[in-house]
Amino acid sequence: MPSTERASASPASYLGVDVGGTKILGLAVDPANGAISHRSMRPTPNGKAEVVEAVAAVVAELAEKVDPPAIGVGIPGLVDHQGVLRYGPNVPGVLDLDLAGELRRRFRLPVVAENDASNAALAEHRLGAAKGAMHAVIITQGTGIGGALIIGGRLLRGANGFAGEPGHMLIDHGGHRCACGQLGCWESVASGTGLANIARETVAEGKGERVLALAGGVPDHIRGEHVSLALSEGDEGANVIIDRFAFWVAQGIGSLVTLLDPELVVLGGGLAAINQHFVSSVQSRVMDAVLGGTHRPPVPVVSAMLGAEAGAITAGKFLEHFTDYPYVHLDIAGPAFLDSPWGYYGKGGTGVGVRLLTDFLTHAAS
Ligand SMILES: [Zn+2]
Repeated sequence: MPSTERASASPASYLGVDVGGTKILGLAVDPANGAISHRSMRPTPNGKAEVVEAVAAVVAELAEKVDPPAIGVGIPGLVDHQGVLRYGPNVPGVLDLDLAGELRRRFRLPVVAENDASNAALAEHRLGAAKGAMHAVIITQGTGIGGALIIGGRLLRGANGFAGEPGHMLIDHGGHRCACGQLGCWESVASGTGLANIARETVAEGKGERVLALAGGVPDHIRGEHVSLALSEGDEGANVIIDRFAFWVAQGIGSLVTLLDPELVVLGGGLAAINQHFVSSVQSRVMDAVLGGTHRPPVPVVSAMLGAEAGAITAGKFLEHFTDYPYVHLDIAGPAFLDSPWGYYGKGGTGVGVRLLTDFLTHAAS
């Protein structure tokens, strides 16, 4: 039970650290109102020891200012029940990283860890587009694809804590090389990286001149944001690219719907946030990819609601329900958000994860 003594006291800010593929972001968050009092950011170095040192430096810088009672860390990848990052394709050269343990030893504070997408999805389930759903699939498109599955009202963690990585479903036989090394993972055709892959293919067919021009005329330089920009200008080539992209997004969602029979699918990330036509285009294709698609209720595909930090400020109010959440569990959140090809979303998305984490710590420490 929460201690009323602690609740009535005015605890120091908690620290949330988001380890991304390119940046490590630390926030000091006031548990009373979710306000961010201090920030610290460093580039993500290569190598395990270097990552630990960089995260510790971010924590040390913030801890000097706010004297935190606990720390939360998020990392993208396979984070086990003990909070150890076993594998993360977006954090190169880092395997079997017990970051929570390291931080506990160095700072002598409780440390909580979780996969980054799980954080964002939990916030979406408690506060956002999936609020109240018993069965939901929550997908976030960034550099890769983050995902979480809500089954029976709870986050599916799996036997090891590794459940909910739909980005690496093998869906495009012989397709593009994924960051994980496989060919044809869903995220190689349905993430921000996937959007760039599809744009390059389309440009190679002689379409999408505006997208190519925005990339300086160099196909290898095409990124998802070039497509987004061309789309905002009403470019026809960009529309072709988006329709092809929507097809692949719908293929993966269709398989997930067939497997899990959710009430709805929440689509988060830059493109879903900025372009309703894209979401509609995905929606119109999903049931074609579902078993018995014409003989079952259509599954709504909706945009995520918590792209901005404001939405997560109140997340703490809902975390009291997470009574089954392990107290010491490390959450590593980030690259999908931090490295998002849609920069503005990346900022907000990261805020969601970090704030959820720090809000959770408020509950865990009470
Ligand atoms: Zn993969």
